[in-house]
Amino acid sequence: MKVTLQNLTKVFNSRVGKVKSSVTAVNDFCFEIEDGELIGLLGPSGCGKSTTLHLLSGLQKPTSGKIFFGDEDVTALPAESRGVGLVFQNYALYPHLTVLQNITFPLENRKGKDKLTKEQMVLRATEAAKLVQLENLLDRKPSELSGGQQQRVAIARALVKEPRILLLDEPLSNLDARLRLQTREEIRRIQRSTGVTTIFVTHDQEEAMSISDRIVVMKDGVIHQIDKPQAVYDDPINLFVAKFLGTPPINVFEGYIKNETLYIDNEALMPIANEADREVVIAIRPEGFTTESEGETVLTCGLTRVEVMGRDISIVATHDKCENVSIRAIVDADNLSCINGTTVRFGLKKHKVFVFEKESGERIRF
Ligand code: ADP
Ligand code: MG
Repeated sequence: MKVTLQNLTKVFNSRVGKVKSSVTAVNDFCFEIEDGELIGLLGPSGCGKSTTLHLLSGLQKPTSGKIFFGDEDVTALPAESRGVGLVFQNYALYPHLTVLQNITFPLENRKGKDKLTKEQMVLRATEAAKLVQLENLLDRKPSELSGGQQQRVAIARALVKEPRILLLDEPLSNLDARLRLQTREEIRRIQRSTGVTTIFVTHDQEEAMSISDRIVVMKDGVIHQIDKPQAVYDDPINLFVAKFLGTPPINVFEGYIKNETLYIDNEALMPIANEADREVVIAIRPEGFTTESEGETVLTCGLTRVEVMGRDISIVATHDKCENVSIRAIVDADNLSCINGTTVRFGLKKHKVFVFEKESGERIRF
């Protein structure tokens, strides 16, 4: 099912004593989600991710704008008629019901032509349970399951309704690191095999990058960039997006342009044609450093330590003009021998160096 958000806006007006305030949680969202696509909504806490899901599910009404499922305008359709499967961070299972009963629950109160027999319900629930690999645990109570298994019950319960779209709001947040990894792969597999159009909300960039066909990067209710994960990482539209994606994080420096050359401190990094002299922000991905200094591309940093990670090494360094607590450079482990002393001279890979306007944070392409 294709989903279209058309100028979707949600403003919350609140009042504390005599002071009125309003928050635009979702500001003029316009995008299309293709049939069968898994879209990741990514942004820091409070940026409007959950509100977007609530609008899609019908739990909240937009202030303005429209939502379409396929060609159908569902903006005024009540939540129960939208055919949406929802999964939240806290799985909210019924503790006194078994896994099977929890999964059949959404099918119980169907009326008229949608009414199912007991056998049909069990069949549907068993199929959903198989999909999330819980078919051997149908008689257990939620308290007898691990967190990951409980979240899979919640996913099966959302899928049993054969929803037109599946909405997942930070579904992995309550799981420990290992289960989180496993469950996210599981979600991707289930989504692929059902082909259900899915919107996955997270504040964790790694999670969003690994699971999504495309990601929507948002901040303060505004969409900053929508693209494939690799494209957003390789070609960030502004400094916020560049800083939000990537582990270790991108290294951010105060720099300047002088005579069409890019500088950090007194070191010339590379040419930047047709740009006026001014102060800028320069951001370098950890993998953008090399230890062979190619030609004039050199940045001299203080060497803190070297961490061996097997295939790669991580060089931890410092620079007066860097805003990060420490610089992280990831280089090939073969280069270990050439690093010693108290300074390190880096070469730079041009396509891993991004330049931004100092005030607006907008990207300067060169
Ligand atoms: P996220 O899920 O990205 O953390 P939310 O969508 O929950 O963000 O919230 C977005 C913004 O809208 C926040 O500033 C939040 O305080 C505000 N907000 C959310 N729900 C309400 C509400 N029911 N009433 C007033 N403000 C709200
Ligand atoms: Mg939220």
